[in-house]
Amino acid sequence: MTVQPRPSILTIEPYVGGESKIPGVNRIIKLSSNEGAFGPPPKAIEAITQAAREAHRYPDGGATALRNAIGAKYGLDPARIVCGNGSDELISHLCLAYGGEGTEVVMSAYGFMMYDIAARYAGSRVLKVAEHDMKADIDGMIAAAAGPRVRIVFITNPNNPTGTLLPSSEIARLRAGLRDDVLLVLDSAYAEYVTEPGYDAGEKLVNAAGNTIMLRTFSKIFGLGGMRVGWGYASPEIIETLNRVRGPFNVAAASQAAAVAALAEEGWEAKSVAHNNEWRGKVVAALEGAGIKVWPSQTNFILVDFGAPERAKAADAALKQRGLIVRAMGGYALPQCLRITIGTAEECQMVIDALTAFANG
Ligand SMILES: *Cc1c(COP(=O)(O)O)cnc(C)c1O
Repeated sequence: MTVQPRPSILTIEPYVGGESKIPGVNRIIKLSSNEGAFGPPPKAIEAITQAAREAHRYPDGGATALRNAIGAKYGLDPARIVCGNGSDELISHLCLAYGGEGTEVVMSAYGFMMYDIAARYAGSRVLKVAEHDMKADIDGMIAAAAGPRVRIVFITNPNNPTGTLLPSSEIARLRAGLRDDVLLVLDSAYAEYVTEPGYDAGEKLVNAAGNTIMLRTFSKIFGLGGMRVGWGYASPEIIETLNRVRGPFNVAAASQAAAVAALAEEGWEAKSVAHNNEWRGKVVAALEGAGIKVWPSQTNFILVDFGAPERAKAADAALKQRGLIVRAMGGYALPQCLRITIGTAEECQMVIDALTAFANG
């Protein structure tokens, strides 16, 4: 007899992050985790350096300055914001607080892997709903969520790893189709990159009722994945629940300071979005010109579809030969695809060169 975790823990496939090394290759270009193309904002680097001198102090457990800065930026009530050690932490707490043994959690087939991991951790059963054209099937999700044991529905818009966007009216239709006692988690990790008019990252839905939470992150456009800062916006009741269960000092002081500074960086988002639009457009045009299928993206990555797993594997090898690391999609049940982050101009050009040569080879 030895110590054993709860049985549901043993059903979890450990999360495998984007690779970062290729044996024998010196210069690595990492395009596997959707980290912003420009690295951290200069003001954030400064703030982290400053914070080092105060590293002996515990952080502000309420993340007050950060919540105020987020509230001011997006026009939200800071009292309805909670910060997390990345939005991943909040996903886990939501699953543990609202799910658990005997309950079910609904997500779409190609939804973000962390939902599956966190739901199983909590002991919930995960119901995955098939997608059409790499888009969540809203009717299918509503039907799957009708069961009495369902407590949480997760949806990402635009979605990772597919990059596709659903109209916000479809997300509203999903909410309207769920029971009032089902929590909708709307993960808007890539909201800043969306150019579609009328897009609602979640504020409207959250304000309309008390059973939806919007999740956001500093890990993508703000270039702070290594600092681990995410946040949620929801009803006071949901925020209070998360405040009860999160660690009292869950976001490091340097991370809070970095995030505040990132929000204050003049023109950062506009510059990032303009770059992303330009180079995503160029990469997509070049790949399509070479006869390679790319799913439409409203994010800082593209899902490239090679039609067959062997072909995707060969493309991955061709990219690796040039030091380019992208994300293989076998873990997402999309082995025929590779997910490629939009990096700097030079990195994008390297992707174009490698894949056009591959297609013509
Ligand atoms: C990257 C990502 C997150 C991220 O979060 P952290 O804040 O770094 O934990 C959450 N959801 C989705 C869909 C993502 O792609």
